Amino acid sequence: MPEGHTIHRAARDHAALIGGQRIAASSPQGRFSAGAAILNGTVFVRTEAIGKHLLYHFDMGQTLHIHLGLGGYFSIGTQPVDPPREVTRLRLEGATHKIDIIGPNTCELMPTDEMENFRLRYGPDLLAENPDPDRAIARIRKSRAPIARLLMDQKVMSGIGNIYRTEILWLRGLNPMTRGVDLDEAELRGLWDDMRALLQIGVESNAIITTGGLNGELVQASKHGGERTNIYGKETCPTCDGAITKETLSGRTLYHCATCQAA
Ligand SMILES: [Zn+2]
Repeated sequence: MPEGHTIHRAARDHAALIGGQRIAASSPQGRFSAGAAILNGTVFVRTEAIGKHLLYHFDMGQTLHIHLGLGGYFSIGTQPVDPPREVTRLRLEGATHKIDIIGPNTCELMPTDEMENFRLRYGPDLLAENPDPDRAIARIRKSRAPIARLLMDQKVMSGIGNIYRTEILWLRGLNPMTRGVDLDEAELRGLWDDMRALLQIGVESNAIITTGGLNGELVQASKHGGERTNIYGKETCPTCDGAITKETLSGRTLYHCATCQAA
């Protein structure tokens, strides 16, 4: 599943490809024909990412809301474009590029002037320019839920998926089942700052890279490769060589090292 860094990266890339242009919109699959007809011929003004939600603002007062879900993806191409695949929910075509949106969980139009209510439904976005961590930290400190669940709760904060939550808890030596109420303010501020740094590396490298910690040099190192994780999807812990414990929490696999994350 795409995590927050993928969507922020897409927001940046898509704005560069077709931003400020009059767009030809179509729904090859037919499931978004009415929406595509409304978008067709209007100007795509800018993108916005809120956690895993990608918003495309258009000049006629409508915003296209995309959530890829587990299996959705974007397909970029250059003009002259190939015929779309049948499963393409929405094709947006500009002068030089097209963006196909395939298999999204959500593809809908919303009035742009109602977007403020939408933004308030989600916790602060770790990748926003100046996010306010206080709202997220206050919420965590009031909760008896395990920190592993709170980090992925998009009402608490936006942007973290299963891989990042696994890796960040391991990097900080935190037991995933630690309750929110048992974490102090300083610990949570450190956690917030580290998550933000990791996600920013993710945006730059367009992959989840956590093996070099929070070091910015990773951005260069990662350009050739895919995702690099410490314990996510691994059998043994790179620090202590102990077995990685796998369990299920809220339907998602949770990995942790019982030795390094005993606290
Ligand atoms: Zn370990």
